[in-house]
Amino acid sequence: MTADRTAVVTGAASPRGIGRATALLLAGQGWNIGILDIDAVGGKSLAAEITAQYNVTAYAVGADVSNETEVRTAIDELEAALPPLAALANIAGVSSPVPYLELTSDEWHRVINTNLNGVHYVTRRVAESMVRHNYGRIVSVSSTSAQLGGGTYSKTPYSVAKAGVIGLTRALARELGPFGITVNAVAPGPIDTDIMGGPLTPTRRAALIDNLLTTRLGQPDDIAYAIAFLLSDQSTYITGHTLNADGGLYMH
Ligand code: NAD
Repeated sequence: MTADRTAVVTGAASPRGIGRATALLLAGQGWNIGILDIDAVGGKSLAAEITAQYNVTAYAVGADVSNETEVRTAIDELEAALPPLAALANIAGVSSPVPYLELTSDEWHRVINTNLNGVHYVTRRVAESMVRHNYGRIVSVSSTSAQLGGGTYSKTPYSVAKAGVIGLTRALARELGPFGITVNAVAPGPIDTDIMGGPLTPTRRAALIDNLLTTRLGQPDDIAYAIAFLLSDQSTYITGHTLNADGGLYMH
């Protein structure tokens, strides 16, 4: 069913990240994979790995999601190389542990430009293609930081950007619904990747688990499964939703 369709995954190059887990899971489900990451070398290496391991086509482009011109050129390239773009997972993101009173304007803009404007630039370009086929599945990664005001690692601009992703998701669910496109978000709690300033020490890991209702820390696959469900044909009636995958950190 997915053989003639492509899922675009941003932020997939990181070797222990959520994007990589998602790209591999989707490839295993038969999606062709378009990778967009600022780390062009890492992205191309994952594309080669996917092509060798799965019976699908994978193609990677290097681009900075916060640069709209680069994004549009990159998606043009993916579209030319791959079957129709039917799904998008907006996963690229950066953390920012700087306290508000020490925050520079540059840091504020770096985080908002990557984590919020970046989602908009990629979504806008991919949606233009989806509309032509009257079909699309879009999932963007938010965070419990949007709902709890941070509290795990990153601080204010991160929370603001991730809250913006939820607002963008709801607004686009309304605007793109008539074109056969669903738009959802996934809000992870703490996940065992390197985004919180590098690999977690046993002490930090234990402290994070203490706040959860599960006895373990989330793994990239936990988020990949949530994203893959929302990109699948089993989620047709779900749109404008934020799915928390957070070990019970935020219940609403
Ligand atoms: P990661 O650092 O392992 O991966 C981030 C990826 O985004 C990398 O491949 C990186 O190269 C790419 N990237 C960064 N800036 C980019 C840019 N400007 N343009 C294009 N690509 C860029 O982090 P992760 O933990 O896998 O996080 C993935 C997403 O999940 C992020 O949006 C993050 O905010 C979100 N998230 C993570 C956690 C967590 O605890 N790990 C919790 C909640 C939300």
